[in-house]
Amino acid sequence: MAQANNRNYVPLPAAFVDTVAAAVPGLAASLDADVPVSVRFNPYKRCGRPERFPAAEPVPWGEPGEAYYLSERPVFTADPAFHGGAYYVQEAGSMFVGWLLRRLFADSAGSLRVLDLCAAPGGKTTHIASVAGAGGVVVANEVIRSRAKILVGNVQKWGAGNVAVTSSDPKDFGERLPGFFDVVVVDAPCSGEGMFRKDYGARAEWSPENVQLCAARQRRIVSDVWDALRPDGVMIYSTCTFNAAEDEENVRWIAEELGGEILSFDGIPEGIVPGFFGGVAAGWHFYPHQVRSEGFFAAAIRKSGAAASVGRLKTAKGLTRLSKTDWREAERWIDGTKGIECFATGGDGAVYGFSPALYDAVSALLGGRFGLLYSGVQLGELIRGTLKPGHALALYHGLNHSALAVAELPVEAAMEYLRKGVSMSLLSAASFSEGLNLVTHRGVALGWAKRIGNRCNNLYPSSWRILHY
Ligand code: SAM
Repeated sequence: MAQANNRNYVPLPAAFVDTVAAAVPGLAASLDADVPVSVRFNPYKRCGRPERFPAAEPVPWGEPGEAYYLSERPVFTADPAFHGGAYYVQEAGSMFVGWLLRRLFADSAGSLRVLDLCAAPGGKTTHIASVAGAGGVVVANEVIRSRAKILVGNVQKWGAGNVAVTSSDPKDFGERLPGFFDVVVVDAPCSGEGMFRKDYGARAEWSPENVQLCAARQRRIVSDVWDALRPDGVMIYSTCTFNAAEDEENVRWIAEELGGEILSFDGIPEGIVPGFFGGVAAGWHFYPHQVRSEGFFAAAIRKSGAAASVGRLKTAKGLTRLSKTDWREAERWIDGTKGIECFATGGDGAVYGFSPALYDAVSALLGGRFGLLYSGVQLGELIRGTLKPGHALALYHGLNHSALAVAELPVEAAMEYLRKGVSMSLLSAASFSEGLNLVTHRGVALGWAKRIGNRCNNLYPSSWRILHY
Protein backbone atom coordinates (compact mmCIF):
# COMPACT_ATOMS: atom_id res chain seq x y z
CA MET A 1 0.00 0.00 0.00
CA ALA A 2 1.17 3.47 -0.83
CA GLN A 3 1.12 4.84 2.74
CA ALA A 4 3.02 1.98 4.45
CA ASN A 5 6.26 3.35 5.98
CA ASN A 6 5.88 6.55 4.00
CA ARG A 7 6.69 9.61 6.08
CA ASN A 8 5.41 11.92 3.33
CA TYR A 9 1.99 10.28 3.27
CA VAL A 10 -0.90 12.77 2.96
CA PRO A 11 -4.42 11.44 3.65
CA LEU A 12 -7.14 11.95 1.06
CA PRO A 13 -8.88 15.33 1.58
CA ALA A 14 -11.99 14.73 3.70
CA ALA A 15 -14.19 16.88 1.45
CA PHE A 16 -13.06 14.84 -1.56
CA VAL A 17 -13.92 11.56 0.21
CA ASP A 18 -17.34 12.90 1.23
CA THR A 19 -18.30 14.25 -2.19
CA VAL A 20 -16.47 13.03 -5.31
CA ALA A 21 -15.34 9.64 -3.94
CA ALA A 22 -18.64 8.99 -2.14
CA ALA A 23 -20.41 8.97 -5.51
CA VAL A 24 -18.13 6.18 -6.80
CA PRO A 25 -18.09 3.17 -4.42
CA GLY A 26 -14.63 1.62 -4.14
CA LEU A 27 -12.79 4.66 -5.49
CA ALA A 28 -11.39 6.06 -2.22
CA ALA A 29 -9.84 2.72 -1.15
CA SER A 30 -8.18 2.27 -4.56
CA LEU A 31 -6.33 5.57 -4.19
CA ASP A 32 -3.99 4.06 -1.61
CA ALA A 33 -3.12 1.05 -3.78
CA ASP A 34 0.03 0.59 -5.89
CA VAL A 35 0.41 2.44 -9.17
CA PRO A 36 0.59 0.37 -12.38
CA VAL A 37 3.55 0.98 -14.71
CA SER A 38 2.96 1.11 -18.44
CA VAL A 39 4.98 1.96 -21.53
CA ARG A 40 4.10 2.74 -25.12
CA PHE A 41 6.52 1.69 -27.84
CA ASN A 42 7.65 3.86 -30.70
CA PRO A 43 6.33 2.26 -33.90
CA TYR A 44 9.27 3.73 -35.80
CA LYS A 45 11.90 2.28 -33.49
CA ARG A 46 10.77 -1.29 -32.95
CA CYS A 47 13.74 -2.54 -31.08
CA GLY A 48 13.11 -2.34 -27.36
CA ARG A 49 10.54 -5.15 -27.69
CA PRO A 50 8.50 -6.04 -24.65
CA GLU A 51 10.51 -9.14 -23.73
CA ARG A 52 13.18 -6.90 -22.25
CA PHE A 53 10.69 -5.99 -19.54
CA PRO A 54 9.52 -8.41 -16.88
CA ALA A 55 6.09 -9.97 -17.53
CA ALA A 56 4.68 -7.40 -19.92
CA GLU A 57 0.91 -7.55 -20.54
CA PRO A 58 -0.78 -5.57 -23.32
CA VAL A 59 -2.83 -2.46 -22.53
CA PRO A 60 -6.28 -3.40 -23.94
CA TRP A 61 -6.84 -0.11 -25.77
CA GLY A 62 -3.40 -0.09 -27.42
CA GLU A 63 -2.70 -1.35 -30.93
CA PRO A 64 -1.16 -4.83 -31.11
CA GLY A 65 2.47 -4.55 -29.96
CA GLU A 66 2.08 -0.92 -28.94
CA ALA A 67 1.52 -0.63 -25.19
CA TYR A 68 2.26 -2.80 -22.17
CA TYR A 69 1.88 -2.94 -18.43
CA LEU A 70 5.07 -4.00 -16.65
CA SER A 71 5.03 -6.19 -13.57
CA GLU A 72 7.52 -3.88 -11.84
CA ARG A 73 9.15 -0.52 -12.43
CA PRO A 74 12.59 -0.95 -13.99
CA VAL A 75 15.20 1.84 -13.75
CA PHE A 76 14.27 3.34 -17.10
CA THR A 77 17.17 5.80 -17.06
CA ALA A 78 19.61 2.85 -17.05
CA ASP A 79 18.24 1.65 -20.40
CA PRO A 80 19.91 3.34 -23.41
CA ALA A 81 16.86 2.56 -25.60
CA PHE A 82 14.75 4.79 -23.31
CA HIS A 83 17.07 7.73 -24.12
CA GLY A 84 16.86 6.90 -27.81
CA GLY A 85 13.06 7.27 -27.76
CA ALA A 86 12.26 3.58 -28.25
CA TYR A 87 9.35 3.89 -25.81
CA TYR A 88 7.57 6.43 -23.63
CA VAL A 89 6.61 5.71 -20.03
CA GLN A 90 2.95 6.74 -20.02
CA GLU A 91 -0.14 6.28 -17.94
CA ALA A 92 -2.32 3.60 -19.54
CA GLY A 93 -5.44 5.80 -19.36
CA SER A 94 -3.74 8.59 -21.30
CA MET A 95 -3.25 6.18 -24.20
CA PHE A 96 -7.03 6.23 -24.69
CA VAL A 97 -6.56 9.48 -26.66
CA GLY A 98 -4.78 7.41 -29.32
CA TRP A 99 -7.64 4.88 -29.25
CA LEU A 100 -10.17 7.68 -29.83
CA LEU A 101 -8.18 9.17 -32.71
CA ARG A 102 -7.86 5.80 -34.43
CA ARG A 103 -11.58 5.14 -33.99
CA LEU A 104 -12.52 8.55 -35.32
CA PHE A 105 -10.14 8.67 -38.25
CA ALA A 106 -9.43 5.07 -39.21
CA ASP A 107 -8.97 5.96 -42.87
CA SER A 108 -7.80 9.55 -42.71
CA ALA A 109 -5.41 9.72 -39.72
CA GLY A 110 -2.52 10.14 -42.18
CA SER A 111 -3.75 13.52 -43.41
CA LEU A 112 -4.86 15.07 -40.13
CA ARG A 113 -3.83 18.42 -38.76
CA VAL A 114 -3.94 18.10 -34.98
CA LEU A 115 -3.40 20.76 -32.34
CA ASP A 116 -2.28 19.33 -28.98
CA LEU A 117 -2.90 22.48 -26.97
CA CYS A 118 -1.61 21.58 -23.49
CA ALA A 119 1.18 19.31 -24.55
CA ALA A 120 4.15 19.17 -22.14
CA PRO A 121 5.86 16.90 -21.34
CA GLY A 122 4.64 15.23 -24.52
CA GLY A 123 3.08 11.86 -23.69
CA LYS A 124 0.03 12.47 -25.84
CA THR A 125 2.00 14.42 -28.46
CA THR A 126 4.27 11.46 -29.17
CA HIS A 127 1.26 9.16 -29.34
CA ILE A 128 -0.67 11.48 -31.67
CA ALA A 129 2.47 11.82 -33.83
CA SER A 130 2.53 8.02 -34.20
CA VAL A 131 -1.17 7.84 -35.07
CA ALA A 132 -0.99 10.74 -37.54
CA GLY A 133 2.04 9.24 -39.32
CA ALA A 134 4.33 10.89 -41.85
CA GLY A 135 1.54 12.66 -43.78
CA GLY A 136 -0.16 14.11 -40.69
CA VAL A 137 0.79 17.27 -38.81
CA VAL A 138 0.86 17.75 -35.05
CA VAL A 139 1.22 21.20 -33.54
CA ALA A 140 2.21 20.65 -29.92
CA ASN A 141 1.76 23.74 -27.79
CA GLU A 142 2.82 24.39 -24.22
CA VAL A 143 2.22 27.79 -22.71
CA ILE A 144 4.87 27.44 -19.97
CA ARG A 145 8.30 27.99 -21.58
CA SER A 146 10.34 25.78 -19.24
CA ARG A 147 7.92 22.89 -19.85
CA ALA A 148 7.90 23.59 -23.60
CA LYS A 149 11.66 22.91 -23.68
CA ILE A 150 11.10 19.47 -22.16
CA LEU A 151 8.42 18.92 -24.81
CA VAL A 152 10.93 19.76 -27.57
CA GLY A 153 13.38 17.19 -26.15
CA ASN A 154 10.73 14.47 -26.08
CA VAL A 155 9.57 15.32 -29.61
CA GLN A 156 13.15 15.08 -30.88
CA LYS A 157 13.70 11.76 -29.09
CA TRP A 158 10.52 10.30 -30.54
CA GLY A 159 11.89 11.22 -33.96
CA ALA A 160 8.61 11.16 -35.89
CA GLY A 161 9.42 14.34 -37.86
CA ASN A 162 5.79 15.46 -38.15
CA VAL A 163 5.55 17.79 -35.13
CA ALA A 164 5.89 21.56 -34.67
CA VAL A 165 6.29 22.82 -31.10
CA THR A 166 4.95 26.23 -30.09
CA SER A 167 4.67 28.11 -26.84
CA SER A 168 1.65 30.35 -27.26
CA ASP A 169 -1.48 31.38 -25.50
CA PRO A 170 -4.57 29.29 -26.43
CA LYS A 171 -6.39 32.38 -27.70
CA ASP A 172 -3.65 33.03 -30.29
CA PHE A 173 -4.77 29.84 -32.07
CA GLY A 174 -8.43 30.81 -31.98
CA GLU A 175 -7.71 34.31 -33.25
CA ARG A 176 -4.93 33.71 -35.78
CA LEU A 177 -5.63 30.23 -37.19
CA PRO A 178 -9.43 30.04 -37.53
CA GLY A 179 -10.70 26.66 -38.77
CA PHE A 180 -7.14 25.40 -39.26
CA PHE A 181 -7.23 22.12 -37.31
CA ASP A 182 -9.16 18.89 -37.90
CA VAL A 183 -8.64 17.88 -34.28
CA VAL A 184 -7.87 19.90 -31.16
CA VAL A 185 -6.76 17.97 -28.09
CA VAL A 186 -7.19 19.83 -24.80
CA ASP A 187 -5.54 17.77 -22.06
CA ALA A 188 -6.47 20.41 -19.58
CA PRO A 189 -4.61 21.47 -16.43
CA CYS A 190 -6.85 20.14 -13.64
CA SER A 191 -7.20 19.44 -9.93
CA GLY A 192 -5.36 16.11 -10.40
CA GLU A 193 -7.58 13.78 -8.33
CA GLY A 194 -6.57 10.96 -10.67
CA MET A 195 -2.95 11.43 -9.57
CA PHE A 196 -3.72 11.11 -5.84
CA ARG A 197 -2.03 7.67 -5.73
CA LYS A 198 1.36 8.92 -6.76
CA ASP A 199 1.24 12.65 -6.16
CA TYR A 200 0.64 13.58 -2.54
CA GLY A 201 1.15 17.23 -3.52
CA ALA A 202 -2.12 17.01 -5.49
CA ARG A 203 -3.88 15.76 -2.34
CA ALA A 204 -2.45 18.64 -0.30
CA GLU A 205 -3.51 21.26 -2.86
CA TRP A 206 -7.02 19.93 -3.44
CA SER A 207 -10.02 21.93 -2.24
CA PRO A 208 -13.60 22.39 -3.49
CA GLU A 209 -12.68 26.00 -4.34
CA ASN A 210 -9.71 24.85 -6.42
CA VAL A 211 -11.95 22.43 -8.32
CA GLN A 212 -14.21 25.37 -9.26
CA LEU A 213 -11.20 27.49 -10.29
CA CYS A 214 -9.89 24.63 -12.46
CA ALA A 215 -13.31 24.11 -14.08
CA ALA A 216 -13.56 27.83 -14.93
CA ARG A 217 -10.01 27.90 -16.33
CA GLN A 218 -10.76 24.85 -18.49
CA ARG A 219 -13.81 26.58 -19.97
CA ARG A 220 -11.69 29.63 -20.70
CA ILE A 221 -9.00 27.56 -22.43
CA VAL A 222 -11.53 25.64 -24.53
CA SER A 223 -13.46 28.74 -25.60
CA ASP A 224 -10.20 30.56 -26.43
CA VAL A 225 -9.09 27.80 -28.80
CA TRP A 226 -12.50 26.75 -30.16
CA ASP A 227 -12.32 28.88 -33.32
CA ALA A 228 -9.11 27.10 -34.39
CA LEU A 229 -11.11 23.88 -34.81
CA ARG A 230 -12.76 23.55 -38.22
CA PRO A 231 -16.53 22.96 -38.33
CA ASP A 232 -17.13 19.19 -38.29
CA GLY A 233 -13.71 18.77 -36.65
CA VAL A 234 -13.34 17.02 -33.28
CA MET A 235 -12.20 18.28 -29.91
CA ILE A 236 -10.80 15.66 -27.55
CA TYR A 237 -11.13 17.02 -24.04
CA SER A 238 -9.39 15.21 -21.21
CA THR A 239 -8.39 15.62 -17.58
CA CYS A 240 -6.76 13.45 -14.93
CA THR A 241 -9.47 14.16 -12.41
CA PHE A 242 -12.76 12.53 -11.35
CA ASN A 243 -15.14 15.34 -10.38
CA ALA A 244 -18.08 16.20 -12.61
CA ALA A 245 -17.44 19.97 -12.66
CA GLU A 246 -14.16 19.52 -14.57
CA ASP A 247 -15.38 16.49 -16.53
CA GLU A 248 -19.01 15.83 -17.56
CA GLU A 249 -20.30 19.32 -16.74
CA ASN A 250 -17.59 20.94 -18.84
CA VAL A 251 -18.21 18.56 -21.72
CA ARG A 252 -21.93 19.39 -21.67
CA TRP A 253 -21.05 23.07 -21.48
CA ILE A 254 -18.75 22.80 -24.53
CA ALA A 255 -21.43 21.02 -26.55
CA GLU A 256 -24.24 23.38 -25.54
CA GLU A 257 -22.48 26.73 -25.33
CA LEU A 258 -19.89 26.42 -28.11
CA GLY A 259 -21.94 24.16 -30.37
CA GLY A 260 -21.06 20.50 -30.76
CA GLU A 261 -22.20 16.91 -30.49
CA ILE A 262 -20.81 14.64 -27.79
CA LEU A 263 -19.67 11.49 -29.58
CA SER A 264 -20.27 7.92 -28.48
CA PHE A 265 -18.45 4.77 -29.56
CA ASP A 266 -19.11 1.05 -29.61
CA GLY A 267 -16.63 -1.41 -28.21
CA ILE A 268 -15.27 0.72 -25.38
CA PRO A 269 -12.75 -1.57 -23.62
CA GLU A 270 -13.94 -3.26 -20.42
CA GLY A 271 -13.53 -1.30 -17.20
CA ILE A 272 -13.78 2.15 -18.80
CA VAL A 273 -17.10 3.63 -17.69
CA PRO A 274 -19.26 6.34 -19.25
CA GLY A 275 -19.83 9.55 -17.33
CA PHE A 276 -23.33 11.09 -17.30
CA PHE A 277 -24.60 14.58 -16.73
CA GLY A 278 -28.36 15.19 -16.56
CA GLY A 279 -28.89 11.64 -17.87
CA VAL A 280 -26.78 12.30 -20.97
CA ALA A 281 -23.54 10.38 -21.58
CA ALA A 282 -20.58 12.76 -21.65
CA GLY A 283 -17.17 11.08 -21.85
CA TRP A 284 -15.45 8.13 -20.15
CA HIS A 285 -13.88 7.65 -16.77
CA PHE A 286 -10.89 5.55 -15.81
CA TYR A 287 -11.37 4.64 -12.16
CA PRO A 288 -8.35 2.86 -10.67
CA HIS A 289 -10.51 0.20 -8.93
CA GLN A 290 -12.16 -0.72 -12.24
CA VAL A 291 -9.34 -0.51 -14.75
CA ARG A 292 -5.52 -0.71 -14.59
CA SER A 293 -4.72 2.98 -14.84
CA GLU A 294 -4.39 6.16 -12.89
CA GLY A 295 -7.54 8.29 -12.92
CA PHE A 296 -8.33 9.76 -16.32
CA PHE A 297 -11.30 11.21 -18.17
CA ALA A 298 -11.76 11.83 -21.90
CA ALA A 299 -14.56 12.91 -24.22
CA ALA A 300 -14.84 13.64 -27.93
CA ILE A 301 -17.04 16.50 -29.20
CA ARG A 302 -17.73 17.10 -32.89
CA LYS A 303 -18.02 20.81 -33.70
CA SER A 304 -21.31 21.72 -35.33
CA GLY A 305 -21.46 23.24 -38.78
CA ALA A 306 -20.55 22.06 -42.25
CA ALA A 307 -16.89 21.54 -43.05
CA ALA A 308 -15.49 24.75 -44.51
CA SER A 309 -12.25 25.42 -46.28
CA VAL A 310 -9.73 27.46 -44.35
CA GLY A 311 -9.52 31.06 -45.46
CA ARG A 312 -6.30 32.59 -46.74
CA LEU A 313 -3.68 32.62 -44.05
CA LYS A 314 -0.66 34.85 -43.86
CA THR A 315 2.55 33.00 -44.60
CA ALA A 316 5.87 34.15 -43.26
CA LYS A 317 9.32 34.56 -44.66
CA GLY A 318 10.82 32.81 -41.65
CA LEU A 319 11.87 29.84 -43.78
CA THR A 320 14.28 30.05 -46.71
CA ARG A 321 14.19 27.18 -49.19
CA LEU A 322 17.64 25.71 -49.85
CA SER A 323 19.44 26.19 -53.14
CA LYS A 324 19.54 23.14 -55.45
CA THR A 325 23.04 22.09 -54.36
CA ASP A 326 22.35 22.53 -50.65
CA TRP A 327 19.03 20.72 -51.11
CA ARG A 328 20.87 17.73 -52.63
CA GLU A 329 23.28 17.71 -49.69
CA ALA A 330 20.39 17.75 -47.18
CA GLU A 331 18.46 15.11 -49.11
CA ARG A 332 21.31 12.63 -49.00
CA TRP A 333 20.89 12.33 -45.18
CA ILE A 334 17.22 11.40 -45.38
CA ASP A 335 15.34 8.28 -46.43
CA GLY A 336 12.98 9.91 -48.93
CA THR A 337 10.24 7.34 -48.33
CA LYS A 338 9.62 8.50 -44.73
CA GLY A 339 7.79 11.77 -45.44
CA ILE A 340 10.43 14.53 -45.40
CA GLU A 341 10.51 16.17 -48.83
CA CYS A 342 11.24 19.89 -48.32
CA PHE A 343 14.30 21.52 -46.86
CA ALA A 344 14.65 25.07 -45.59
CA THR A 345 16.82 27.19 -43.37
CA GLY A 346 15.10 28.47 -40.24
CA GLY A 347 15.58 31.81 -38.52
CA ASP A 348 18.31 30.18 -36.37
CA GLY A 349 20.40 29.34 -39.45
CA ALA A 350 19.91 25.57 -39.06
CA VAL A 351 18.55 23.36 -41.85
CA TYR A 352 15.14 21.79 -41.28
CA GLY A 353 13.33 19.03 -43.14
CA PHE A 354 9.54 18.94 -43.51
CA SER A 355 6.79 16.99 -45.15
CA PRO A 356 4.87 19.26 -47.57
CA ALA A 357 1.92 19.36 -45.13
CA LEU A 358 4.13 20.33 -42.20
CA TYR A 359 5.90 22.95 -44.32
CA ASP A 360 2.53 24.61 -44.99
CA ALA A 361 1.55 24.43 -41.33
CA VAL A 362 4.86 25.90 -40.18
CA SER A 363 4.53 28.72 -42.74
CA ALA A 364 1.10 29.49 -41.33
CA LEU A 365 2.41 29.41 -37.74
CA LEU A 366 5.22 31.79 -38.62
CA GLY A 367 2.75 34.00 -40.51
CA GLY A 368 0.62 34.10 -37.35
CA ARG A 369 3.68 35.13 -35.30
CA PHE A 370 3.56 32.05 -33.11
CA GLY A 371 6.47 31.32 -30.81
CA LEU A 372 7.84 28.37 -32.81
CA LEU A 373 10.37 26.38 -30.78
CA TYR A 374 10.95 23.40 -33.05
CA SER A 375 9.52 21.80 -36.17
CA GLY A 376 10.04 18.85 -38.49
CA VAL A 377 13.59 17.55 -38.24
CA GLN A 378 16.51 19.82 -37.50
CA LEU A 379 19.15 18.32 -39.78
CA GLY A 380 22.06 20.46 -38.63
CA GLU A 381 24.16 23.26 -40.04
CA LEU A 382 25.42 23.71 -43.57
CA ILE A 383 29.06 24.66 -43.55
CA ARG A 384 30.43 25.50 -47.00
CA GLY A 385 27.92 23.19 -48.63
CA THR A 386 28.45 20.24 -46.25
CA LEU A 387 25.96 19.32 -43.57
CA LYS A 388 27.28 19.10 -40.03
CA PRO A 389 24.55 16.81 -38.65
CA GLY A 390 22.71 17.81 -35.49
CA HIS A 391 21.54 15.60 -32.64
CA ALA A 392 17.87 15.58 -33.69
CA LEU A 393 18.84 14.10 -37.06
CA ALA A 394 20.45 11.10 -35.33
CA LEU A 395 17.14 10.46 -33.53
CA TYR A 396 14.92 10.89 -36.59
CA HIS A 397 13.58 7.53 -37.70
CA GLY A 398 13.98 8.44 -41.37
CA LEU A 399 17.73 9.11 -41.15
CA ASN A 400 19.41 7.47 -44.14
CA HIS A 401 21.52 4.81 -42.41
CA SER A 402 22.88 3.38 -45.63
CA ALA A 403 25.60 5.99 -46.08
CA LEU A 404 26.69 6.00 -42.44
CA ALA A 405 29.14 4.16 -40.22
CA VAL A 406 27.18 2.70 -37.31
CA ALA A 407 28.79 1.91 -33.96
CA GLU A 408 26.52 -0.51 -32.07
CA LEU A 409 27.43 -0.41 -28.38
CA PRO A 410 26.60 -2.89 -25.61
CA VAL A 411 24.67 -1.50 -22.63
CA GLU A 412 27.62 -0.46 -20.40
CA ALA A 413 29.40 1.34 -23.25
CA ALA A 414 26.12 2.96 -24.39
CA MET A 415 25.51 4.31 -20.87
CA GLU A 416 29.08 5.60 -20.74
CA TYR A 417 28.43 7.38 -24.06
CA LEU A 418 25.17 8.88 -22.72
CA ARG A 419 26.81 10.19 -19.59
CA LYS A 420 29.74 11.53 -21.64
CA GLY A 421 32.11 9.46 -19.54
CA VAL A 422 35.72 8.88 -20.47
CA SER A 423 36.28 5.24 -19.49
CA MET A 424 38.55 4.02 -22.29
CA SER A 425 37.90 0.41 -21.36
CA LEU A 426 34.23 0.99 -22.25
CA LEU A 427 34.51 3.54 -25.03
CA SER A 428 37.78 2.85 -26.81
CA ALA A 429 38.28 4.36 -30.27
CA ALA A 430 38.42 0.80 -31.58
CA SER A 431 34.61 0.58 -31.25
CA PHE A 432 34.23 3.31 -33.89
CA SER A 433 35.03 3.68 -37.57
CA GLU A 434 37.22 6.56 -38.74
CA GLY A 435 35.10 9.72 -39.17
CA LEU A 436 31.46 10.19 -38.20
CA ASN A 437 29.59 7.35 -36.46
CA LEU A 438 25.94 6.94 -35.59
CA VAL A 439 25.98 5.43 -32.09
CA THR A 440 23.30 2.81 -31.51
CA HIS A 441 22.21 0.36 -28.85
CA ARG A 442 20.01 -2.57 -29.86
CA GLY A 443 19.62 -0.76 -33.16
CA VAL A 444 18.22 2.41 -31.53
CA ALA A 445 20.13 5.54 -32.49
CA LEU A 446 21.48 7.51 -29.52
CA GLY A 447 23.59 10.24 -31.14
CA TRP A 448 26.85 10.93 -32.97
CA ALA A 449 30.53 10.31 -32.27
CA LYS A 450 33.53 11.20 -34.41
CA ARG A 451 36.74 9.24 -34.49
CA ILE A 452 39.94 10.90 -35.65
CA GLY A 453 42.79 8.41 -35.43
CA ASN A 454 43.07 7.22 -31.83
CA ARG A 455 40.76 9.92 -30.51
CA CYS A 456 37.01 9.72 -30.38
CA ASN A 457 34.84 12.81 -29.85
CA ASN A 458 31.58 12.15 -28.07
CA LEU A 459 29.06 14.47 -29.78
CA TYR A 460 26.16 13.71 -27.41
CA PRO A 461 24.78 17.15 -26.37
CA SER A 462 26.14 18.15 -22.96
CA SER A 463 22.71 19.43 -21.95
CA TRP A 464 21.24 15.93 -22.49
CA ARG A 465 23.98 14.14 -20.56
CA ILE A 466 22.72 11.47 -18.16
CA LEU A 467 23.85 12.38 -14.66
CA HIS A 468 22.37 9.60 -12.51
CA TYR A 469 21.09 6.15 -13.26
N1 SAM B 1 -0.72 16.49 -22.45
C1 SAM B 1 0.44 16.34 -21.58
C2 SAM B 1 0.99 14.94 -21.73
O1 SAM B 1 0.27 14.04 -22.14
O2 SAM B 1 2.20 14.76 -21.47
C3 SAM B 1 0.10 16.68 -20.15
C4 SAM B 1 -0.53 18.04 -20.02
S1 SAM B 1 -0.88 18.58 -18.40
C5 SAM B 1 -2.24 17.64 -17.95
C6 SAM B 1 -1.58 20.16 -18.68
C7 SAM B 1 -0.64 21.17 -19.31
O3 SAM B 1 -1.36 22.40 -19.47
C8 SAM B 1 0.58 21.50 -18.47
O4 SAM B 1 1.75 21.26 -19.21
C9 SAM B 1 0.42 22.98 -18.14
O5 SAM B 1 1.65 23.68 -18.16
C10 SAM B 1 -0.49 23.48 -19.25
N2 SAM B 1 -1.24 24.68 -18.86
C11 SAM B 1 -1.33 25.28 -17.65
N3 SAM B 1 -2.11 26.37 -17.70
C12 SAM B 1 -2.51 26.49 -18.98
C13 SAM B 1 -3.33 27.43 -19.66
N4 SAM B 1 -3.89 28.45 -19.04
N5 SAM B 1 -3.53 27.24 -20.99
C14 SAM B 1 -3.00 26.20 -21.62
N6 SAM B 1 -2.22 25.27 -21.02
C15 SAM B 1 -1.98 25.42 -19.72
